[in-house]
Amino acid sequence: MTESTPGNHEHPPLYIRNIAVLDFEGCPEVSVDHVFAPGTEPCTDCGSPAVAPGLIGLTIGNVQILMTPAGAELLRNRLGRAVNLVLEAQEDPPDPVREAARFGAVPDSPESLA
Ligand SMILES: [Zn+2]
Repeated sequence: MTESTPGNHEHPPLYIRNIAVLDFEGCPEVSVDHVFAPGTEPCTDCGSPAVAPGLIGLTIGNVQILMTPAGAELLRNRLGRAVNLVLEAQEDPPDPVREAARFGAVPDSPESLA
């Protein structure tokens, strides 16, 4: 992965540290990477700031996405929210009789707690 520059010079290639390769059956491969430039000095030709400590790379099939830590954090948060929604949908519904016993109440019937 070579960084594009405004001038006609090239920056050194970015380094890619693979964090995970995930294989979901029947789907394109998913790769998570740490994409960074070694060193912290700005480019001597154009003054562009160095990209170290880097960005988060997400590759799904042929599609590559570079995210800031904030963007990746948002994605992680939204993925976690979606996971929770699915897991909550698989939970047993609350048991009013068991809950009443836990708190020391004795309901006449489960419907009386509704
Ligand atoms: Zn440059």
